[in-house]
Amino acid sequence: MRHRRSIDLMPREDAADDGATLELLPEWYVLVAKCGKCRHQGRIDRRLVANRRGWGVSLNSIGPALKCVRCGNREGNKLLLGRLPRD
Ligand SMILES: [Zn+2]
Repeated sequence: MRHRRSIDLMPREDAADDGATLELLPEWYVLVAKCGKCRHQGRIDRRLVANRRGWGVSLNSIGPALKCVRCGNREGNKLLLGRLPRD
């Protein structure tokens, strides 16, 4: 199931089967983690993810591996994609 990509933040589970990987993600997208417990949201540097998981890591596998920097929660965390303004 695909959605238009014109919204600011897009839950990755809406594109759960498209096979997207970090290296295929256009550079004007930013990774945003959302905590399933305290709702904290924070930007993630994709290079840090690549250092740990490799550029071929599936975007869908990143969210469940995240740990909240605020409360330390590891469950129910989601990876969102944000679009940077292009000018
Ligand atoms: Zn949290």
